[in-house]
Formats: sequence, C-alpha cells, structure tokens
Amino acid sequence: MTTIPVWVTERRRPRVVIVGGGFGGLYAARALKRTAVDVLLLDRTNHHLFQPLLYQVATATLAPTDITAPIRWLLRKQANAMVLMEGVTNIDVERRVVVTSAGREHAYDYLILAAGARHAYFNHPEWESLAPGLKSIDDAIELRRRILTAFERAEATDDPEERAAWLTFVIVGGGPTGVELAGMLPTIARHALVHDFRRIHPSESRVILLEGGSKILPAYPDALSEHARRDLTNLGVDVRTGTLVSDIGPHHVAAGEERIHAHTILWAAGNAASPLGKDLHTKQDRAGRVLVEPDLSIPGHREVFVVGDLAAVVSKGKPVPGVAPAAMQMGTAAAKSIRRDLEHRDREPFVYRNKGDLATIGRYRAIADFGRLRVTGVLAWWLWLFVHIMYLAGFRNRASVLIEWAYSYFTYERGTRLITGGGSGGVSKQEPVPGNW
Ligand SMILES: Cc1cc2nc3c(=O)[nH]c(=O)nc-3n(C[C@H](O)[C@H](O)[C@H](O)COP(=O)(O)OP(=O)(O)OC[C@H]3O[C@@H](n4cnc5c(N)ncnc54)[C@H](O)[C@@H]3O)c2cc1C
Repeated sequence: MTTIPVWVTERRRPRVVIVGGGFGGLYAARALKRTAVDVLLLDRTNHHLFQPLLYQVATATLAPTDITAPIRWLLRKQANAMVLMEGVTNIDVERRVVVTSAGREHAYDYLILAAGARHAYFNHPEWESLAPGLKSIDDAIELRRRILTAFERAEATDDPEERAAWLTFVIVGGGPTGVELAGMLPTIARHALVHDFRRIHPSESRVILLEGGSKILPAYPDALSEHARRDLTNLGVDVRTGTLVSDIGPHHVAAGEERIHAHTILWAAGNAASPLGKDLHTKQDRAGRVLVEPDLSIPGHREVFVVGDLAAVVSKGKPVPGVAPAAMQMGTAAAKSIRRDLEHRDREPFVYRNKGDLATIGRYRAIADFGRLRVTGVLAWWLWLFVHIMYLAGFRNRASVLIEWAYSYFTYERGTRLITGGGSGGVSKQEPVPGNW
C-alpha cells in the first residue's frame, strides 16, 4: 500500500531541512533550486568554508576571508532556500524534527544530514588543547596564533634550550593535512620571516612530522608517497614513519623512545564523524560514520539522507573517501533523489566519480594521482593550483585568492601574519608559558 505524503494532504510543498552548509549541504541546497520544495539550511556558523585551503590560513599565507563566504550570501538568489545560523543538537527521526541550540524544533519531510567530521584523539581528549587540529576557520586562526607566537617567544628568550623548544614544531599525522602543514612551515620560517627577527634565525626551526603507519599519505600509491617524503626531507622536514605518539604534555611529545621538547604541537591524525549520526539509530562504522543505503538514505527512513564526511558509502565496491568532490557529488545525488520522488520516478544508486587525488608539499611541489597517470613536482603543483582555483567557483573571492597567492608566493611578503585570538598577547589559557615568562 502506498502512503500519501503528508505535504500532499496538507496541500503544501515538501520541506527539506539540510543540516550543514559545507560542501555536501551547500551542493544539496543548490541542486534543489528548481525543485518545488522549501529548503531550510541550518549551520552553526554563518559561513561556508573551503577546507582544502585551511592550512594556508594556519600558516599565514591566506586570510580567513579568502577561503570563506557567508552561506546566506551564497544562496541569496535561491528563492526557495532559507538559511538559519543554528546548531542542531538532536534529531528525532520518528517525529521528523530537528532540535536546535536556539531551543527550536524544525519539522521536515526530507532531511539531508551533512554535518561533517571533527578530529579524533584516540581516547585522549586531554590532548586536544595541547595539540589543536585543523577543521574550522577558528582552528586555523588558533594554529596561526600558536605558530607566530612561537617565533615571538623564541626571539624574546635568553635560554638556548627554551629557544630550541619554541622553534620546534611537531605535527602528528602524515595524511594530506599533516603533509601540507609540514611542507609550509619551513617555507615561512626560512623565507617569509627571515628578515623580521634580530636575535633568532627562523631557519633554526625544526619541523618534525610523526606518522604511526609505515608511510605518509597512505591513500596514495607507494611511489607517490615516497616522492612526497623525499620532497619534505629536501625542505628540511624530519619525517618519522612507524612512530606512534604515546604522550603529549604542555612542553613535550613522547614518540617511540624519544621525548621531544616542543611547545607547538599540531594534530592532523584522526577523524570522528559528527555526533549527530548517533541520533539516527542506525549502524555506524568505527569512525562514527553512518552506513547508508545505495541511494544515501538510511535503512527504514527513505526521507533521511546522510552525505559527505558523515556518510560511510561504498561505490563500485570501494569505500568513498572523505574528500570535497565526494561530498559535493553526494549532496547533489540526495537532491536528485528527492526530485525523482516528486516526479514518481525510481531513485538511482549513488556512483562516485573520482577525478583524481592531489596533495601539495611546500610552495612548489605536489603529487597527483589520476589512476594511470601520475604527476609529481612543479607540474603537479600547477595542476593543484588550477583545480583549487576552479573549485573556488561560486566564491566571490576566487580572484582575490589568486592575486593574494601570486603576491605572497612570488614576493614572500608579510601575508597575513597577524597574531589574533587567545586573549591579550596572543596567549591562551591552555598554552604553556615557560619559566622565563
Ligand atoms: C584541513 C583539511 C584539508 C582538506 N583538504 C582537502 C583537499 O585538499 N581536497 C579534498 O578533496 N578534500 C579535502 N579535505 C576534506 C574535505 O574538506 C571534506 O571531505 C569536506 O569538507 C566534507 O564536506 P561535508 O559537507 O561533509 O562537511 P564539512 O565541509 O565539514 O561541512 C560540515 C558543516 O556542518 C556544520 N555543522 C556541523 N555540525 C553541525 C551542527 N550540529 N549543527 C549545525 N551545523 C553543523 C559545520 O559548521 C560545517 O559548515 C580537507 C579537510 C580538511 C579538514
């Protein structure tokens, strides 16, 4: 027996609630532009964030406004879409409502959950304040603050041991984010900051990349991972694979047999899906991602879709990676299924189209994997630049990113080296202040 949808009996348009204005949520909303539905997009922030360039904000190359845009502005021409800045705290799939931090309930006929992921600290939540990760624009500003403050402290201290600890940067995790951060740090230290200090030479800085597995960039073929490792080593990065972190304190990292004296520790090691996935009461994988049906809905609830980093999806027999193009494709696919429902057509299974993987190493190097075609070095870096500029399409600041980039890349100019946030003097409550301060 077919049940008549409630919006038909109530003679109104179906309400689609989208949680999250990242890649998955934004692309879902846009794909519903010409569908006879009312869209409500909820996000706890007011902006869409281009996460792939976050490390450039963290390393003071780009400004936060270069990689963000208000969600409201991005959807301003879409009459059927409304945006509210509200964090979702609960989802009740039986009553078909989402509850927000503003204490409101929003009823839906369709729900697209695109709340993404955060960092995971492998059962050590106490490490988070000592070794912050990089997911949001606030995280990037915090990392930038810690990195730039470290150089300031090194300049100020008379104690050589303290100076060395301030100039030691440890990055935990050799995935793309860890590699990108590790590649940029020697560059800003050696070139961008070199003339700004009197007592220290920023080239005295050490960058140590710790990876628990046997190779960095584990998702890439061995030859490309090895290439990336060589590029990082040539930049002066101390790459240590097979090295698990066993302890992090305010002034050290314990890795393998060694206790590294360092004040700046950055985390790029693990992901945990948004806790909202639990509210769906369906199966999740170890990272908390929701196991979805081929059409991205959840079992027993055809009206609830999960997309992006929060979804555990298999396409062509392989798990779909947590990358921006996958989230965009899933958002678009969920919107298409809603449209097909309204047209009384069968839904289609989601198929992921991988156009290639790219990772940068420092200012002019990258690796690119397009299946049979593999590219490394400067050519791969130009490809990376082109792809990222293209993906910024729809952002008002695409041109400004390009100009800013070109300017800082070719002149090593001051970029956006402001120390902001964390209270006066740029020191947060959690941050270690050594003896001579
Ligand atoms: C540092 C970094 C570098 C990356 N580099 C690359 C790269 O080079 N190439 C690539 O393809 N991918 C890259 N990725 C991965 C890519 O950014 C993600 O796969 C993609 O953003 C996932 O999209 P999403 O929509 O699922 O989640 P997100 O883009 O994370 O969006 C989730 C949204 O949900 C909102 N939200 C979360 N919880 C709530 C709540 N309770 N209530 C309301 N709103 C909520 C958040 O504010 C956010 O706007 C990178 C990721 C990071 C962190």
